[in-house]
Amino acid sequence: MKCLECQHDVEQINNAHLAECCGLTLQEYAIRHHVSLDLLVNESMVNATDDVSYYSLSADKPSIRASSILSALLITDAFTRNGEFICLSSEIRRLDELLWYLRDLQVFGFQFRQEYSYTETSHRVVPNNLIKTPYKYEHKFSELCNEIDFDLFLSVVIARSSELRNGYVFLSLAENQEINALLKRLTDEYQIRWVQLEDIEQEKNLYRTESLQDAQRLLSLVESCLQEIPCVTERFFAQVERATVSKELVFDSAHFITDHPGKCENLHGGRYTLNVKIKDRIDPLTGFVIDYGYLKSIVKKRVIEKLDHQNLNFVSSDLGWRSSTELLNIFIWERLIDYLPGLVELQTFETTQSYCQYQGPSLEKMQAGFADLSLKHFSRQELGRSVLRQQLSLLDKTNKLKVVKN
Ligand SMILES: [Zn+2]
Repeated sequence: MKCLECQHDVEQINNAHLAECCGLTLQEYAIRHHVSLDLLVNESMVNATDDVSYYSLSADKPSIRASSILSALLITDAFTRNGEFICLSSEIRRLDELLWYLRDLQVFGFQFRQEYSYTETSHRVVPNNLIKTPYKYEHKFSELCNEIDFDLFLSVVIARSSELRNGYVFLSLAENQEINALLKRLTDEYQIRWVQLEDIEQEKNLYRTESLQDAQRLLSLVESCLQEIPCVTERFFAQVERATVSKELVFDSAHFITDHPGKCENLHGGRYTLNVKIKDRIDPLTGFVIDYGYLKSIVKKRVIEKLDHQNLNFVSSDLGWRSSTELLNIFIWERLIDYLPGLVELQTFETTQSYCQYQGPSLEKMQAGFADLSLKHFSRQELGRSVLRQQLSLLDKTNKLKVVKN
């Protein structure tokens, strides 16, 4: 078999050869030369088991760097248990980041593996890049890790758990006391404030820097450390292209239009189609503006669950008077913008022939106090307090008003 990197004939193109010849892994070689990985791995490499006896803890005391990196990975729940091992997996695009962690984590017995699996459902060889160490070492980690470099620790937390969305940093983390303590410390010592949003993923809490300034303070705090972590530095600091993505979801709702001379005064229902458009940087680590599946989860949680199979007039005081597509768009915008600061446009179709398109205020503008008046008219505290309303008390209290039927 001819190696397309070094042009030599080799018995088998494998990671051992590629490490010598070009520094690529087999998966990267397959991508670069657009050949199927199924043709490159031989049977013995697929669904192979790993042996814990190949792994050992170092006799050396872990460095502050090693302790900081491991502690950060532990509190972000980065490891998964797999048989006798604990593993940290990473996409191939982030291989250098994984190897950057490994350099310091070897002291805890970690080694790199590119493993290949074939399952009844995949019908192809699926590679998995991971660093792993025997599970039996895990209980020793806390006694081995003592001194921590806070900036490095924080940078690894950011590297593993955060996403940048239109300038705001979002953190998605499992609930634990150490995370709460970390966020509190960032607020108290560094004036970096956080808002906790409604959870979108199961068993994960979602936090966002409160403002753009909070995100900038956070990034300048960790910038020098983040610049050191391969791949991650691109996510935060590289100049990248921007693009707009759109996701369509549908919901079924009923509504009526108050004080409207026409059929729409009556309760009627239909299927609404909602298009949500997000414009942002294309994240170099994912190749996405935002993952469509994640975007769908947010819109489902924040909008569809609220509106589907409901009478829109009774969903909120904002829509009680007029559940038009126009006001519905503003209402939906306000429910999404905290989660999707890259939101640029909503389109709501009430029928295939009638739809409304809306480009609302940025999150920054919303935070500065912008509120749409038509949506809030009936929930304003002042409503009912004008002198004009005194005339209402002149109504005949003897109850001459009667319900009449024409
Ligand atoms: Zn070669």
